[in-house]
Amino acid sequence: MKNITVIGGGVIGLCSTYYLQKEGYAVTIIEKGDITNGCSFGNMGYISPSHFIPLASPGIISQGLKWMLSPTSPFYIKPRMSRDLVQWGYHFWKNSTAATVKKNAPHLNDILQLSRGLMDDLRNDIGDTFHMEAKGCLMMCKQKKTLDHEFHLADEAEKFGLKVERLKKQEVQQLEPSIEMDVEGAVLFKDDCHLNPGKMMEALKIYLETKGVKFQLNTSVTGFEKHHNKISAIITDKGKFDCDEIVLAAGSWLPVVAKMMGIKLLLQAGKGYSHTYANVENNITYPAILIDGRCAMTPWEQQLRIGGTMEISGINDNILVKRMKGIYDSAKAFYPGLKIDFPATDKIWSGLRPVTPDGLPYIDRTAGVENVVIAGGHAMLGVSLATATGKLVTELVQHKKSKIDISAFKVNRFS
Ligand SMILES: Cc1cc2nc3c(=O)[nH]c(=O)nc-3n(C[C@H](O)[C@H](O)[C@H](O)COP(=O)(O)OP(=O)(O)OC[C@H]3O[C@@H](n4cnc5c(N)ncnc54)[C@H](O)[C@@H]3O)c2cc1C
Repeated sequence: MKNITVIGGGVIGLCSTYYLQKEGYAVTIIEKGDITNGCSFGNMGYISPSHFIPLASPGIISQGLKWMLSPTSPFYIKPRMSRDLVQWGYHFWKNSTAATVKKNAPHLNDILQLSRGLMDDLRNDIGDTFHMEAKGCLMMCKQKKTLDHEFHLADEAEKFGLKVERLKKQEVQQLEPSIEMDVEGAVLFKDDCHLNPGKMMEALKIYLETKGVKFQLNTSVTGFEKHHNKISAIITDKGKFDCDEIVLAAGSWLPVVAKMMGIKLLLQAGKGYSHTYANVENNITYPAILIDGRCAMTPWEQQLRIGGTMEISGINDNILVKRMKGIYDSAKAFYPGLKIDFPATDKIWSGLRPVTPDGLPYIDRTAGVENVVIAGGHAMLGVSLATATGKLVTELVQHKKSKIDISAFKVNRFS
């Protein structure tokens, strides 16, 4: 049986490892950090079949340009001299059409639904220590116009077989009787669920360690040795590692590591912020996306996480406090009864979403290098798509026909 090296210990790397070790492969994970923080930890923890519309969609460009003028806005592209950014932006613009969404949404729906089912299986297998709760997710609207649009999306969701409930103001309030809300209405997407992503990462790591997976932590991949069309060794700051096959799951660093192999990938880091409150009096009980507030809220019993924004500003961990203020103000505007204070700057978490130009992930072998599978670019859906991605990656490693059609996730689709 081949030895597989997974580069990147985020949720995509760990879930790929989970399915690979189940098939009997010996897996080593090389990770530059220590798997205690990063994008797969501080996110909102939604498993969202409801998100079948890709990020690149009609209206996002014009809305984004308006938002760029406001320091508290949820979307920002930092103008900079970067060929990669220009190419990415061009393809993002090109894919933000109704026709592309119509073409891509069924593919996104297929992988989302596959992942949702596999997530239940994974939870049953490794045990739920991560607060997974299947009560759906509320898409909450303050304005009638936004609610009408959300009701229209609910019609589309039903065509994909999703269960939805359209709720008026009073019906939303009845779901959260102990907290004052100020909304026009909501759609409850009943197939969605939520979990604590950091705790899920901890549980997965412990499970994989007990199964004999090797973790090579605090080790940065810096290059590769190639023999003919294959990678024969991985070069790191801690020495050289031989490998049979590689799964590249380096999140927002995917283009950087792929370039070391001679592969060009279009991907930008989309920074988001969150803050987690430890003990909230009269906490909300339903996870909620505040549609016209452009942020999200996730409760785990007394804990509450608020988060959002998409800042395309390169790979950095600078915190723009005003954007977190935008998130906090939205939360207070939708839930005036919520007793939370604005967090101190050092308590604001940030993470980098790996964003492709069309909002679909890359899950594919590459033409140039025979023994590499690429898995990444899941943008806002890395947790939602992690189990299906892990399964599909394993099928690619095995050269098996995939469970679903993965032609939309090809790495060369922008060439
Ligand atoms: C505010 C916010 C909220 C979100 N909410 C949700 C949500 O509710 N649901 C959802 O599905 N998704 C959500 N996401 C998106 C989700 O968090 C990401 O899609 C997901 O974490 C990406 O996982 P990944 O494994 O691809 O990348 P990462 O978690 O970034 O992992 C990649 C790993 O590769 C390592 N690496 C990189 N380069 C090297 C190298 N050279 N050598 C060794 N290791 C390397 C990195 O250190 C990193 O640990 C959210 C994101 C944000 C920011």
